[in-house]
Amino acid sequence: MHLKGQTALITGAARGIGRAIAETIAKEGANIVVVDLNQDEAQQCAEHIETLGVKALALSGDVSRSDDVRNIFEKAVETFGAIEILVNNAGITRDALLLRMKEEDWDSVLNVNLKSVFLCTKEAVKLMAKKRYGRIINIASVVAFTGNPGQANYSASKAGIVGLTKTTAKEYASRSITVNAVAPGFIMTAMTEKLPENVKQEMLKTIPLGKFGTPQDVANAVLFLSLPVSGYITGQVIHVNGGMFM
Ligand code: NAP
Repeated sequence: MHLKGQTALITGAARGIGRAIAETIAKEGANIVVVDLNQDEAQQCAEHIETLGVKALALSGDVSRSDDVRNIFEKAVETFGAIEILVNNAGITRDALLLRMKEEDWDSVLNVNLKSVFLCTKEAVKLMAKKRYGRIINIASVVAFTGNPGQANYSASKAGIVGLTKTTAKEYASRSITVNAVAPGFIMTAMTEKLPENVKQEMLKTIPLGKFGTPQDVANAVLFLSLPVSGYITGQVIHVNGGMFM
């Protein structure tokens, strides 16, 4: 129970990687704020997390909208008083080759994947700076480093997260707030489920460990960065990709 008494706010926590992160951090004793677009799914997730013996609050909202983000943080603070851990996990894909990519798909991916990290980090840093303690973990992607045909918007948003992570880490290190990123490779979730089988099989050939990752593999890295013992690590990216990019 290394996180007993702390509160973690996780975006996009109702399913997939976010849900595994929420459960894993809850098992270390932290109360959880489950943030998601869908209130019913967020509520179901929060109810499950409470069976692990911590408190959980479900809040719905679009993390790419500043008014929603302000509202989410206000309600979280009303309930728990503070937030020690922020995991910026919410993300979407709208894949197409560059020449066919619609401007609205560029905008929505950049807004949900990158602007949300800016908005949530701003709110969290205000709280963490007062306490002179905080852990911010941003979910990037292997494609931030490798690129990927069809994902100009997505890979740009994830590369942006890496730059934002490093800058925020430098700006708030003096307040003992650490800011790191986790870059998953190919993880089995609804996001990757929709890819054609032949694309998945080609992808598998590029993974030295010979298997796709699980949400738990990512959650384990996030947990490490959220613990007090990781306090001398900031501005870093942990790659969780089975060796597909080294
Ligand atoms: P997922 O299964 O699609 O889950 C994403 C969650 O984020 C959903 O619960 C979704 O809510 C929520 N969400 C989407 N837009 C939101 C918004 N504007 N505001 C609040 N919540 C929002 O995705 P995943 O595979 O778990 O991915 C989680 C993160 O890991 C993403 O940042 C993704 O880019 C990253 N990642 C994933 C992989 C992979 O292989 N799966 C690899 C690298 C990086 P709804 O259900 O209501 O839409």
